[in-house]
Amino acid sequence: MMKSNGRTLLVIFLVTQSVAFLTAAKDFDFFYFVQQWPASYCDSRRGCCYPKTGKPAEDFSIHGLWPNYNDGTYPSNCDSSNPFDDSKVSTLESVLQEHWPTLACPSGDGLKFWRHEWEKHGTCAESIFDERGYFEAALSLKKKANLLHALENAGIRPADRVFHTMSQIKEAITKGVGYEPFIECNVDSSGNHQIFQVYQCVDASATEFIKCPVLPHGRACGNKVEFPSFSTASSHDEL
Ligand code: 5GP
Ligand code: 5GP
Repeated sequence: MMKSNGRTLLVIFLVTQSVAFLTAAKDFDFFYFVQQWPASYCDSRRGCCYPKTGKPAEDFSIHGLWPNYNDGTYPSNCDSSNPFDDSKVSTLESVLQEHWPTLACPSGDGLKFWRHEWEKHGTCAESIFDERGYFEAALSLKKKANLLHALENAGIRPADRVFHTMSQIKEAITKGVGYEPFIECNVDSSGNHQIFQVYQCVDASATEFIKCPVLPHGRACGNKVEFPSFSTASSHDEL
């Protein structure tokens, strides 16, 4: 009698443990930290409009910090009860305008872009940060990656009609950051492939770069890519 009771208890224990394990499935595994090269964004067919605050500096700018699963799928729009609240980032606004400017048309002040990124992606990682923490985490990753500096160290500087191989570009970034990035290209009106977005993988606490568990699905690059100048670029407002 005692023996069978013990076995029943053991079975109950094992069942509750596995239910707890299954319901505590992780809400994401890692992040893609994605930065865009403004000159390439402007050279693409959709064109660009400079933000209301003026033409951004010639530097990579943040597109987003996106929670992802190891199998390549990702959660999105996870919490409609926690919409973007601009008062929570008001003291960060000028830093965001500098490092996370909006280039979409018509010209904006960035709030719409930041709202979209927080609501679509940030709300899926509420277990590790709140809205302000989401933007701070991305800003600090940008500083840590310092892509422009990594490329410059390898002699790769923004210039029109100068072409690099993908291995030169990937090597330069890998040397600077420690892990190989995924690079997405666009094609300009002359048919040249350009560095458009750089994807880096970040651990689930949004602090350290890691080797990518799975590669994203962005448009791959040819083997001759341009890193176009942004000082000579023009926006729709100027055309
Ligand atoms: P696109 O289709 O232009 O590459 O991506 C459109 C949007 O879908 C991105 O800006 C991003 O919000 C989302 N997205 C695309 N690919 C991924 C991905 O691999 N992981 C995550 N988390 N989001 C993605
Ligand atoms: P995602 O592709 O991340 O899902 O969506 C990006 C959204 O933000 C699009 O609706 C796009 O129009 C808007 N957006 C505003 N400014 C920018 C920008 O500078 N870059 C990109 N990629 N999207 C922007």
